[in-house]
Amino acid sequence: MSIMVAIAGAAGRMGREVVRAVLEADGLQLAAAVDRHEIGADAGALAGRGPAGIVIGGDLGAALARSRTDVLVDFTLPDGVLGNLRIALAHGVSPVVGTTGLSAENLAEIDRAAKEKGIGAFVAPNFAIGAVLMMQFAAQAAKYMPDVEIIELHHEKKVDSPSGTALLTAQKIGEARRAASVSPVPSPQGLVEKAPGARGARNEVTGDVPIHSVRLPGFVAHQEVIFGGIGQILTLRHDSLDRRSFMPGVIIAIHKVRALNGLVIGLEHLLD
Ligand code: NAP
Repeated sequence: MSIMVAIAGAAGRMGREVVRAVLEADGLQLAAAVDRHEIGADAGALAGRGPAGIVIGGDLGAALARSRTDVLVDFTLPDGVLGNLRIALAHGVSPVVGTTGLSAENLAEIDRAAKEKGIGAFVAPNFAIGAVLMMQFAAQAAKYMPDVEIIELHHEKKVDSPSGTALLTAQKIGEARRAASVSPVPSPQGLVEKAPGARGARNEVTGDVPIHSVRLPGFVAHQEVIFGGIGQILTLRHDSLDRRSFMPGVIIAIHKVRALNGLVIGLEHLLD
């Protein structure tokens, strides 16, 4: 039997790709589509795939109540995602979430609510398999080259910074450094940051890994992880050149989320 998929943010850039990918995937069926724009438009036609017979609605709760949805894919924006996930979980629908910007408390709440319902939930800061590999390689390299900085580059319309991928990469680097008992060389005393932030952002998640965010038209989603060593530089770079790069990961997650118990974060946990 096909997995019935609802899509929140179906009129957005990522949402339209997901509509197309779901319509083209074996074993998946589009059950509902929701957005704050294009209400009443056919989701398939909007995604450039021809009419799918699913009209974009403005009310997720009503759409889930009306349809027999198994999985909700959410590619909305940080201000709406948590509300959507609460609605999905209340309906016993497993969420697959690409929207970035969820806090640690939000993720804990989703995990609790999914476990209470006895269903799975999945969040991936990056659905591109190449980006997942980049994070794994970065954690491996950090053991031997603990001096590292991240540059992430995205299109100018991305609202949150740094990217979820950059934060997760920094977190994995921190874990790898701690496990190997290595640390970066200390910064010299008396550093002067003539423009605040010039040396990159740091918080409790990034730890000692500075993140530099670039937002410019022309970019899609890119990241460089630069390791410095004596007499050598190692650069890991991943480029998502097209939003289609995220779709194989989204399809894997739709197929696997219902077998999970509670919340799983990161596509690496779903890859064989
Ligand atoms: P976008 O083009 O702005 O699309 C988001 C769409 O969702 C907009 O039409 C937006 O409407 C709508 N929306 C917002 N809140 C909603 C709600 N509560 N219910 C229904 N629809 C809602 O953005 P995008 O470029 O597609 O990116 C979407 C998200 O995916 C971002 O958080 C981005 O960072 C993330 N992303 C993740 C990955 C990954 O691999 N995990 C990859 C790429 C992008 P309004 O314009 O009215 O708000």
